[in-house]
Amino acid sequence: ESRRVARRAAAALHAVRATVEENVEELGRLDAVAGDGDHGIGMQRGARAAVDAIDATLGFGAGAQSALEAAGDAWADKAGGTSGALWGVALRTLAARLGNQERPDADVIASGVQDAADALGRFGKAERGDKTMLDSLFPFAEALRRNADAGRSLPESWSAAAAVCTDAAAATADLVPKIGRARPHAEKSVGTPDPGAFSLALAVTAIADTLTS
Ligand code: ADP
Ligand code: MG
Ligand code: MG
Repeated sequence: ESRRVARRAAAALHAVRATVEENVEELGRLDAVAGDGDHGIGMQRGARAAVDAIDATLGFGAGAQSALEAAGDAWADKAGGTSGALWGVALRTLAARLGNQERPDADVIASGVQDAADALGRFGKAERGDKTMLDSLFPFAEALRRNADAGRSLPESWSAAAAVCTDAAAATADLVPKIGRARPHAEKSVGTPDPGAFSLALAVTAIADTLTS
């Protein structure tokens, strides 16, 4: 059972890598407006490494927790940059909540994503409204919780929350950055969404298709 969950986690990360590959230049362009322009290449390195790592663990019959931990470690190790470290923390935190035994339903996934959001807040010391990936991650986590509590299935819950995440990422265009590399060029950033919030929305949207099929 846990191996089945690990295979689904691997399929999710393959979908993340595919959408990152399609959007490398766009993510770089967003990051170049007020940051250093490396968000596309960083996400590409991280997602590629995570996929290679999780595929390797499947060969050893790993469960979901060890598979996602390996993916998170590889992402943080290979991506470089702030967002790479944050994606590593997020994947490891989600892995800890899933464990190797549990059959993940909408409720445990909502808890795992909330744990990941809280962990990123502690790790990066950003707050909501600072114009970071937290500004699409927290609304995503909250939507997952509402949908799970309303009794929706995991695919339904995730798809609806992915739409919330996408809207929240777009809405970061109005924010002024308070933290990170975009801070020194804060005013230039207004009108452009935060690259990390935007790439998170791409990722969760891509994952939605793997859960429904
Ligand atoms: P770097 O800023 O090191 O070049 P990236 O360009 O890959 O790394 O990622 C930039 C993204 O990382 C930002 O758009 C933002 O979403 C996110 N980010 C940066 N600093 C923080 C932080 N302290 N907390 C949360 N997210 C952050
Ligand atoms: Mg950057
Ligand atoms: Mg950088």
